[in-house]
Amino acid sequence: MTSFIDNLVPQAVKKLIPYQSARRIGGDGRVWLNANELESSLFEGEPSHNRYPDFLPQDIAKAYQAYCGTDAETVAVRGADEAIDLLIRTFCKPASDNILICSPTYAMYEFCADALAIETLDSPLQEDFNLNVADIVQKSELVNLVFLCSPNNPTGNVIPKADLIEVLEGTVGRSLVVVDEAYIEFEPHTSAVSLIERYPHLVVIRTLSKAFGLAAVRCGFILASPNVMQYVSKLIPPYPMPDCSSQIVLEALSDERVAVMKEATAKLVEIRNQFAVALTQFDFIEYVYPSSTNFILLRQKSGHELFSVLTKDGIVTRNQNHELALRNCVRITIGSPESMAEVIASLASYQTELQQTQQDQQKRQHQQDQYIETQSQLDKDHI
Ligand SMILES: *Cc1c(COP(=O)(O)O)cnc(C)c1O
Repeated sequence: MTSFIDNLVPQAVKKLIPYQSARRIGGDGRVWLNANELESSLFEGEPSHNRYPDFLPQDIAKAYQAYCGTDAETVAVRGADEAIDLLIRTFCKPASDNILICSPTYAMYEFCADALAIETLDSPLQEDFNLNVADIVQKSELVNLVFLCSPNNPTGNVIPKADLIEVLEGTVGRSLVVVDEAYIEFEPHTSAVSLIERYPHLVVIRTLSKAFGLAAVRCGFILASPNVMQYVSKLIPPYPMPDCSSQIVLEALSDERVAVMKEATAKLVEIRNQFAVALTQFDFIEYVYPSSTNFILLRQKSGHELFSVLTKDGIVTRNQNHELALRNCVRITIGSPESMAEVIASLASYQTELQQTQQDQQKRQHQQDQYIETQSQLDKDHI
């Protein structure tokens, strides 16, 4: 039975016969001379890297499924960014199909679409950064993929489950819904993974780059129904995971290390919450947005440039001012308590500077007033 999911796949992708790498063809033997590899490592006594890695690292996928507590089909890719690119290439015809985003959000959805001349439609978030569900459902008719991000980067908020379900119900027969859960470890109970079974057009993207602290390893995941995955796997490059990364990832997904990650995440959340409260002491900050992530988004009052203030003190943050909905906003990643104390100290010294300037101005004004008064008194006396 074909479903609307099959109809979203471009003909060119449907016709693809996946690249037949030596590892995929497999075989049985003692002497392996089929992949033009060097038969033995050049450096004896060191870990060897001369053989191509597994075609799709099954052990990693299994370990990640166990971590998620799901049996949704799972595949490891080189970061969530590759997952985004892969999904667009699998389900959108270049120079013809469209995707939908809800701005402000992660920039890679539109970037990957642009690279393929795929148009990006927008259903902007509401002022409180919640989805405009009716608008998304309406526009989903025009697109193959709807990209949602929860918790969202850079707004930091989670999509309420009721909203997500409304979107999923409304998009049946129309488009796939991709939920990017790069920050899910900071609010794990809000994950959409358990909905994949009920909604086969839902795809979840994950990464080890954030809470797991493995950005350099380049590992992300796609979780989806078999119907979605059969097409994605056609386009997955032959050897997606370097074996050095695979080893680190497998270890990171052990019960022991997952427990360490969870503990570190809880600590980070505590640092974040204290930092958010500390920010509210400054007059020049208009609003500190609530966060379900490892960053804080704040809105400064206009006339201030906190991004530059912090840069001058050697603290690099993300200026979000270029985005209309994020005028005067700065995004600050949560680091160590010491780093957050540095941010607060830098802002405190800016506050002192401002107060000093204000006092100087008042003093000058006072002097001016006095001068005028004395002069006019003198003038009067002369008459
Ligand atoms: C950081 C981030 C990514 C990229 O993750 P990688 O696995 O490092 O490629 C994807 N989506 C969002 C929302 C992110 O913030």
